[in-house]
Amino acid sequence: MCGIIGRVGTDEAIDTLLTGLENLEYRGYDSAGVAVQNGSGIKIQKQSGKVAELKQAIDSDLLSGEVGIGHTRWSTHGPPTDENAHPHTDSTRDVAVVHNGIIENYATLKSSLQELGHEFESDTDTEVIPHLIQYYLDEGASAETAFRRAIDDLEGSYAVAAMVANEHVLYAARQGSPLVVGLDDDGFFLASDVPAFLEYTDDVVYLEDGDVVVVRPDGVEFTTLEGHAIDRQPETVAWDPEQAGKGEYDHFMLKEIHEQPTSLAQAIEGRIQGDEPGEVALESFPPGAFDGIERIQFVACGTSYHAALYGSIAMNQCGIQTSAHLANEYGVSAPPVDENTLVIAVTQSGETADTLNAMRRAEADGARLLTVTNVVGSTAARLADDVLLIRAGPEIGVAATKTFSSQAVMLLLLAQCIIDDLDGTCEDRRALYNDLSGLPDTFSSILEDGTAKALAEQYLGAESYFFIGRGLGFPVALEGALKFKEITYEHAEGFASGELKHGPLALVTPETPVFAIFTGDEDEKVLNNAEEAQTRGAPLVAVCPAGHRAVDIADAHLDIPAVDPDLAGLLANVQLQLLSYHAADALGRPIDKPRNLAKSVTVE
Ligand code: GLU
Repeated sequence: MCGIIGRVGTDEAIDTLLTGLENLEYRGYDSAGVAVQNGSGIKIQKQSGKVAELKQAIDSDLLSGEVGIGHTRWSTHGPPTDENAHPHTDSTRDVAVVHNGIIENYATLKSSLQELGHEFESDTDTEVIPHLIQYYLDEGASAETAFRRAIDDLEGSYAVAAMVANEHVLYAARQGSPLVVGLDDDGFFLASDVPAFLEYTDDVVYLEDGDVVVVRPDGVEFTTLEGHAIDRQPETVAWDPEQAGKGEYDHFMLKEIHEQPTSLAQAIEGRIQGDEPGEVALESFPPGAFDGIERIQFVACGTSYHAALYGSIAMNQCGIQTSAHLANEYGVSAPPVDENTLVIAVTQSGETADTLNAMRRAEADGARLLTVTNVVGSTAARLADDVLLIRAGPEIGVAATKTFSSQAVMLLLLAQCIIDDLDGTCEDRRALYNDLSGLPDTFSSILEDGTAKALAEQYLGAESYFFIGRGLGFPVALEGALKFKEITYEHAEGFASGELKHGPLALVTPETPVFAIFTGDEDEKVLNNAEEAQTRGAPLVAVCPAGHRAVDIADAHLDIPAVDPDLAGLLANVQLQLLSYHAADALGRPIDKPRNLAKSVTVE
């Protein structure tokens, strides 16, 4: 859930560790800490709160050393206190450990260790790890063997990095939580995510579940838990450090909203081509790739679920049988799955625990798995039979923006391959794909429009904000409301427009603006529903092209260029992203790190 950074090099580690923690803070940030091997044992500094506060409190002389580990925590076991912050140690303080994930059998391990006299200082599951290592060291094992034995005792999900006093070595292991190794001329990095060390190197090795690495100043050994050498090749990531910084924008979220023309261009590059203009060619899916598939199920959470719903509706409209499921409900409500079922997992990080579990369940029932993700080498990418990368680049803001548009667009392209293979009913969608090629420019034109900001300020202080849409406008209404509540902390709900009269209309007052999304598909029905709300006093904002009938009726208008109905919702979504951003900004919210939320939800 949170972030790990480790460094073994020839220079002082502390600055690298703190920079890494700042870069990783978006993953979770209730507490932070570092441990450095300083030649006379391990020195630790950790506390609840932000990395900036830790940085201020740090005594760099005390934390001098060339080997170290750091952590930003998003609590799963025990509140975000100083004691529960990582790194954790054993009773002798000769072992320090940072951990992402959950140790499921920690209670049993802890009581066995307590019976042996080990005293615990925190409420975390993590603390059993340094105590286990110490236990094996006391038995006479070498540090490396003690680490391997401790890891062998763990059940659950983890990325772990550990060090033992007076050794210039880091030990690390991965099972179910991401971990990467970075290589530069002066040493090595360990991290839960590449942006942690991107300003130092872009040469990385992604670890696989079950890998154990031993990092020394002169090299890294990649091994199995039993210690057998394994081959892990470095790859170069295409992200540059500039991209991982905020640039000219006040917030990562605004920067990422503005990056959409580029991220979309990257997503579709080389994928709309072929002999006929407007033909789709996805690298991993040649014609016939989906032959034999009888039904498709999408699994995803949060914003990715809205993108999945978008893809599902687009495919249904072309006669392909699909359904979209919240991944966290899939285990208890999944429809039947067999080897003719394609399960499409949509996850930005590729590490969303709920989605991974849904995938594992579907895999056990024989389904074919396809992952749509932003992260090469992520767990969901490895778990699937096929991967479709959305190529959006790093997304730092907790509220997903550019990854939603890229996910939705990739699903529209995927839809075409599936429609072609499964004889769907929409055979000629060249007009759509031609509009899709122009989408980056269309997005740019919306980004120059200041109306969303003006409306955000005009409606500030409203009781609730409602978003309605129909067909492909429905997932956009859900996404508009999710974004609004995530970052403004104001009450917002998204509805299928036809549902308004089945209950939510009771909430509508002059204090509840209603944003209605018009895609160009059955707009009359949406307009009727919107007018029902307006009649009851709600200010109505029409999100539609200029010249649309709704503009004359509505109290205000957010403009989108006229495009194919399959794409109009994505344009409306950009206006809604800007609306949420500016409302949150006017309210002074911490936009990139909304309270209680983390970017990548790697626990169930
Ligand atoms: N389960 C550990 C804790 O609560 C680690 C959580 C995390 O991944 O940050 O401290």
